[in-house]
Amino acid sequence: MSQIYNRVALIGLGLIASSMFHAIKRAGLAGEVTGYARSAQTRDTAREIGLCDRVCDSAVEAVEGADLVVLCVPVGVMGAVAAEIAPALKPGATVSDVGSVKAQVIAAVAPHLPDGVHFVPAHPLAGTEHSGPRSGFAELFDNRWCLIVPPPGSDRSAVDRVEALWQGMGALTEEMDAEHHDLVLAVTSHAPHLIAYTMVGVADDLRRVTDTEVIKYSAAGFRDFTRIAASDPTMWRDVFLNNKEATLEILGRFTEELFALQRAIRTGDGDHLHAYFTRTRAIRRGIIEAGQDTDAPNFGRSNRG
Ligand code: NAP
Repeated sequence: MSQIYNRVALIGLGLIASSMFHAIKRAGLAGEVTGYARSAQTRDTAREIGLCDRVCDSAVEAVEGADLVVLCVPVGVMGAVAAEIAPALKPGATVSDVGSVKAQVIAAVAPHLPDGVHFVPAHPLAGTEHSGPRSGFAELFDNRWCLIVPPPGSDRSAVDRVEALWQGMGALTEEMDAEHHDLVLAVTSHAPHLIAYTMVGVADDLRRVTDTEVIKYSAAGFRDFTRIAASDPTMWRDVFLNNKEATLEILGRFTEELFALQRAIRTGDGDHLHAYFTRTRAIRRGIIEAGQDTDAPNFGRSNRG
């Protein structure tokens, strides 16, 4: 894979930015990668572990001369960061982001960008429950989707270059409009996270089940909820506050289905439960066939894992 950008700037140096850096280096996609994070502690860590070719002490310094700037900060601060860097952007540069919500991010960022700077929002559908500069790895995006969400009228060659970068980092890409993206993600990611947070919260409240029992017997299903519920609190607070409508729509449907299942249990309607679980099992099979998960028992983990 050959170089796509001369200079790339990563703003925010957490899981996604650090994985991008490693994936860019793996394939030689950029000449130089600069980076900036809000805290001196994260910047020092980045310098210590060699994350970025150059770690800068201000966002403005990091974006100066960059051909591509990628905002890798929580969704709620994208607009403020865009306002801060706007005057320093090179004419003809492209700004992108990796935020988990798109309509609100576009509304917050686009007004700050000067004429002649392209904006190509993107969202890699890959992550772990870990965060921070040490959590990234080059393989994070391999064979995962990255949705590209160009606003109407975007410059075609700028979009193609961002898409080529993600493909070079191992991802599969597809273009989508922002509203559709937010609805799809509410179903596949945002509502499931809220449900996991709730389930772990409920278990925590249930004092008749001791803490040790919850942990000891967690492989019975609960453990997979705890992994999701360990995700970064700031990131997820911002996701729900910024994808309000779609998340509420899906949670409304979820509640209706939950009531229907609750009623089937109460009335002993085994046919309803069996038919429902048969349908959901087929969805799991579809995900495996699409190469988006392993069918190894227990997600390929050892029993101790
Ligand atoms: P993360 O590991 O928590 O890192 C966030 C980074 O943003 C940190 O380096 C933090 O700096 C920096 N930051 C926060 N506020 C800032 C500000 N005002 N100015 C400059 N830097 C700031 O987060 P992440 O998981 O990489 O997520 C980053 C973005 O990717 C989010 O928008 C998220 O929605 C999206 N995303 C996440 C996942 C996932 O599963 N994690 C997947 C796809 C997309 P400090 O360390 O100094 O606080």
